Amino acid sequence: MITRRKFLKNTTLTSALLITGVNEAFVKNNEKVNVKPLVISTWKHGLAANNAAWKIITENGKSIDAVEQGVKVSESDPEVQSVGYGGLPDRDGNVTLDASIMDENGNCGSVAFLQHIKNPISVARLVMDKTPHVMLVGEGALKFALNNGFKKENLLTEKSRIEWEKWKIKKNYEPEKIDINNHDTIGMLAIDNFGNLSGACTTSGLAWKYHGRVGDSPIIGAGMFVDNEIGAACATGKGEAVIKIAGSLLIVELMRNGKTPMEACKEAINRIVKKQKDFKDFQVGFIAINQNNQIGAYSIQKGFQYALYIDGENKLIDSDYYLK
Ligand code: ASP
Repeated sequence: MITRRKFLKNTTLTSALLITGVNEAFVKNNEKVNVKPLVISTWKHGLAANNAAWKIITENGKSIDAVEQGVKVSESDPEVQSVGYGGLPDRDGNVTLDASIMDENGNCGSVAFLQHIKNPISVARLVMDKTPHVMLVGEGALKFALNNGFKKENLLTEKSRIEWEKWKIKKNYEPEKIDINNHDTIGMLAIDNFGNLSGACTTSGLAWKYHGRVGDSPIIGAGMFVDNEIGAACATGKGEAVIKIAGSLLIVELMRNGKTPMEACKEAINRIVKKQKDFKDFQVGFIAINQNNQIGAYSIQKGFQYALYIDGENKLIDSDYYLK
């Protein structure tokens, strides 16, 4: 029950914080939530993923279930060659997957360097739900998945195998420079009808990477981060560049200090530009949301797109970018 005193306190706080633009849902302690539900994800394949997530949101499901089911669509689609099944392999021909998930209570789980499992995001979810740990990698992650009913599968499709064979001839096993063509992680952030935020991020990583390489996507705070009081962020592009600035945590902390999601995404890209001399040679893109329904997206290079589902409409939007 809301006492008069608590009501007055909340009302005063709410009005004061509305002026400063701080999270209304949090101030109201979830008694009444005014934030609109939304789903946002990276790249064009985010459109199909958003549809699956949105369905869960409209059925009053939780954002954590929405992001898991959403990104599973990209993981399961062999035509998406940067995520899950059909992902481009490392330079030895192995498809190795990274994924992370985080809910409104700060619970999180991740897997890295996982092979043979089509939906690593669901393994990450299980790490979060069923273990005292945050992260499982390699053989241990595979064993955990198999013990929990996941099926061992060959993830290298004929299409990706042929591309790998061609790459081997052309590149003579030399690691590829990370450019704007050899990645496209799906990162997804969602707000449900209860005003709660969750995030998920899943990838086959950079094509033709060293065997054993792990990127930003499964690193909580680098590839993705959620703080229900403030907002959430996730990343795509050269994972090494994102890890070096702890990109997603940085964006959430910048929002905590008053930046809008757009300003925070720009600041994170500026940090990369300032410190990483070769920034013109690679791509990094960030998306972010806050508890005021504001959205941000920014990348180094032209060409980054994100899919936004809000007010019943799912749209692909070109991100603003640094190198003009
Ligand atoms: N961020 C991913 C990684 O470095 C790549 C991507 O965006 O696809 O593994």
